[in-house]
Amino acid sequence: MTGPFKLSPLPYAEDALAPTISARTIEFHYHKHHAAYVKTLNELVAGTEYADMKLEKIVRNTAGKDGEKEKKIFNNAGQVWNHDFYWRSLAPKPSTPKGALKAAIEEFGGPDKLIEELAQAGKTQFGSGWAWLVSKNGKLAVEKTPNAVDPMSKGVNALLTVDVWEHAYYLDYQNERPKYLEAVLKKILNWDFAAQNLSREDEPVRAAA
Ligand code: MN
Repeated sequence: MTGPFKLSPLPYAEDALAPTISARTIEFHYHKHHAAYVKTLNELVAGTEYADMKLEKIVRNTAGKDGEKEKKIFNNAGQVWNHDFYWRSLAPKPSTPKGALKAAIEEFGGPDKLIEELAQAGKTQFGSGWAWLVSKNGKLAVEKTPNAVDPMSKGVNALLTVDVWEHAYYLDYQNERPKYLEAVLKKILNWDFAAQNLSREDEPVRAAA
């Protein structure tokens, strides 16, 4: 793969999320879909002002722009960032919210309410997109975004995300997005990653190592 952007390594083995997310889904989702966004982004930025820009800056600078080229760059840069962030939002071993994150979840209404709102956001995102746990001045909120859009491009701090594009769940759950959401939200969310992101709200989160 040539160009400034690389496919970030997965933070765990490809079969580590099974059976919630199978190795076969990872094979397609990570090695085909995610890799294709990286490849396309590299092709699009070659020879442009974006070639030397950090990924976050590209996402912010192209968000909401009208030009065809900018739209394509936004879609691919956004999807690279979102996927880096998604893989880090998941973990093979269950973790439990502690400290400031635990307190913020209690203030939100408790873990059951939080999971339920995340599931609702994912279910009700019409078509492709993402469900997000975000924080604003230490307070938690749930958002959903379409296609490649993310909270970062609106200056909102993300803690966790769940991909609700069909490619994220179709091989394992077929059309049953709610079943995928329930399994992911209850079994493999990386609360330690969420806690890290909550603690550094004043600076942009960079998912990739
Ligand atoms: Mn995806």
